Order: sequence, then structure tokens, then C-alpha cells
Amino acid sequence: MQTNLADFIKDSPEGQEADAILRTCVHCGFCLATCPTYQLLGDELDSPRGRIYLMKQMLEGEPVTQKTQLHLDRCLTCRACETACPSGVRYGRLVDIGRGIVEKKVGRGAAAGAMRYALRQTLPNSKLFSSLLRLGRGIRPLLPGSLKDSIPPEAKEMQLAGAWPPARHTRRMLVLEGCVQPALAPNINAATARVLDKLGISLIKAENAGCCGAVSYHLNAQQEGLDYMRRNVDAWWPYVGNEMEINARQERGGVEAIVMTASGCGVTVKEYGHLLRHDPAYAEKAARISELCKDISEILEAETQVLANSINSLPVNPRESKLAFHSPCTLQHGMQIRGVVERILIAAGFELTVVPDAHLCCGSAGTYSILQPELSQQLLKNKITALESGSPTCIATANIGCLMHVRGGTSLPVSHWIELLDERFVKSAHA
Ligand code: SF4
Ligand code: SF4
Repeated sequence: MQTNLADFIKDSPEGQEADAILRTCVHCGFCLATCPTYQLLGDELDSPRGRIYLMKQMLEGEPVTQKTQLHLDRCLTCRACETACPSGVRYGRLVDIGRGIVEKKVGRGAAAGAMRYALRQTLPNSKLFSSLLRLGRGIRPLLPGSLKDSIPPEAKEMQLAGAWPPARHTRRMLVLEGCVQPALAPNINAATARVLDKLGISLIKAENAGCCGAVSYHLNAQQEGLDYMRRNVDAWWPYVGNEMEINARQERGGVEAIVMTASGCGVTVKEYGHLLRHDPAYAEKAARISELCKDISEILEAETQVLANSINSLPVNPRESKLAFHSPCTLQHGMQIRGVVERILIAAGFELTVVPDAHLCCGSAGTYSILQPELSQQLLKNKITALESGSPTCIATANIGCLMHVRGGTSLPVSHWIELLDERFVKSAHA
């Protein structure tokens, strides 16, 4: 596609990046069929190609209106269009850049701005989120319907995190605790620590690490998001170091990977190197952090045979005998990790059902379920129908946002897949 970017943006790093992305789009439309919002709304401007065209017009200096903002807001950033695109258009980066510019040009009304500010203040702050969640759950019975529905009730299987094994192995990995996950599902990281401990790897936490930065970054507070990223780089660096330092550190118990148990965080941390590439103080360190960042499925993929050998003699919990796996968009499209979790679960003895349209988003998409509730609920309904179509006894996923969202639409138990593996691999071995 030919472009002619306007003076206000063409010489900036963002402008140059957007220009390069726009030029790769050949307008073929292969991405349309895979786009969830185009499927629901049938409007070209709610498709990847339509949004790319809107962003091109804006970057070329055409007037920007709230209509432009609406079509970009409706995008889930699921990146299914990237998977479908034969030309390798990096749509996710383009829409982040485009949204930032629309926000500056059009702004937000007071109520919408306040809602976004509140989300940015609350979600990344795990202590504040935890206190508000406790308070919300306490007064939940007194709240009206829609407000009540926005507060997730405490699920029985998530109340107890269980024991975190002591760091006793030479092989060590860091884990990102994240922001909302410790309050909503503390068992996920504890289960990961137990599974890795069985494989001879100790999982440790860095005290000052926190939110990965995705919430702020995707709500167009990009500098704030980058600050969260810098904070994590600082928190992890003493455990990591450069290539030479790491060899010395590993002998003293340094880490070989930074493990993500929420694919929404993983996709962001893997982009730290790119997002901080123009920051001279952080560029190199951030690139190293991204290199070391691994989704838990990538770590366990290398151990599949060990898992299979250890697990196959163990009994399967009937509750988990037939499993529907929901692969989050951040896992299958963002990180391009497809089929890995499924292979691990099958090797571990689980029976997986076939899930139609598995490439489609469940409608969680970070803060999308709060900011675009109608579209989000339609997508959830479709996703639950697809997940339940194979008559599973439980559902598993790989991201805390999807987990809570899917749980809101079904009566089946919904867990992180690592919790099921932990149940089978660690707990049942002790039963
Ligand atoms: S984003 Fe890719 S698939 Fe979509 S129109 Fe452009 S080149 Fe074609
Ligand atoms: S990111 Fe998802 S919702 Fe947005 S344009 Fe691409 S496919 Fe459609």
C-alpha cells in the first residue's frame, strides 16, 4: 500500500514504524473472515482492513472524528488478523500507535475518561485491587444486578493456593506474579511452582516486580505502561544480567528463564525489547528480559516425555476426564504458540474435546469486557457454545482474564491448565 504520512508524524519513531506496517498491507482482505468484530457487526470499518484504512487516513492528516475512535475502540486487539495475514502485517503494533494518536486528537468525555483512569489506577495495583475485591465480595449481595455481575464471586477451587515448594534446586526460574492474578487465582503460580519443582526447577519471585504494563499501555497511557515495564526490568535484572554475568550467576543460583502463567502478560513482556528500544538506559536490558521470557507451556514442552512417563500410571479425576481447552488470543495469535498446551495435556492423559472456531476471542481482551460489554457478552456466548459443544466435564485456559470471563458464562468448572496438571502430576502422586 502506498502511503504519504503527514508532517506531524512522519519523522517520529512511531510514524516510521506505522508507515512500514501500512506499506506491508496489500488490501487482500484475507483477514476479514477471521475478525470477531467483523463477524458480529458486518461493517468493513469494524474489520482489520477497514481499521487499517482509517489509521492510514489519520496518519496522512485527514480529519479524525469520534467515529474513527469508535471503530478502533471496538477492536479487541485479539490479533487473529495477524495469524490470517499472508503479508505479515503487524496489526497489533499499528493499532496501539493509531489509538494513541486518536486519543490525543479526539480525547474522551469525562465519564469515559474517568472510567479508564480508574481502571489504570486499580488493576495494576495488586494490593488496592485485592482490597477492593474483598470489599466488593463483602457487599455483593446488596448490589444491583449489573454491578453484582462485575464482581467475580470467590470460586471454591481458587480459595487455597496450596504450598509453594522451597527453592531447593540449582535450576531456577523467575515467575511474574502479575497484578490481578494473585487476588483472583493465587493457586495458578503455586501450582506452577509445584509442577516445576517435580521437574527439578525452583520457581522464585522478584520482590519488586508487578503489573507487566499492558493495562496502561493498551488504555493509551503508553508512558505509564512503559514505566511499569522499566520497573519490572529493574526488579528482574539482579537475577538476570547480561550473557557473561548469567553464566556466573547461574553458578550462584541465577535464573534461566522468566516464566509467565498469564499469556496476556507473556505477550507484553516478550515485547519489552521492542517497546523500550529507544530508551538508552533500558534498551539492552529489556531485550534480554524479552529473550528470557517464556510462557509456561514453552518450558513444559521440553519436559513432555518426563511428564507423560510420570503421569500415565496415575488415576484421572473424573471431573477432569474430558476437557475443553480455550486457547487465549494472546497465546495463539500474540505469541503464536498453538497446539503446545494441547499436546502437553494429551501427553498427560487428558481427553480433549474438539472446540469449533477455536481461533475466535472469548470477549475478555483485557479491559474490553468492561469497556465494550455488549460485544464482549456476544462473543462470550458464542465461545461458551463452542466450548460446551463437545460435552466436556471441565474447561481449561491459559490466561487469568479469559478464565474469569469464561467462568462467568458457564456452570462447568474453569481452571488454568497448569492447575489440572498439578492435580494430576503432583497432588495425585501423593494421594
Ligand atoms: S492486513 Fe493482511 S490480510 Fe488484511 S488486508 Fe492487509 S495484507 Fe490482506
Ligand atoms: S485484532 Fe482482532 S478484533 Fe481487531 S481487527 Fe484484528 S481480528 Fe479484528
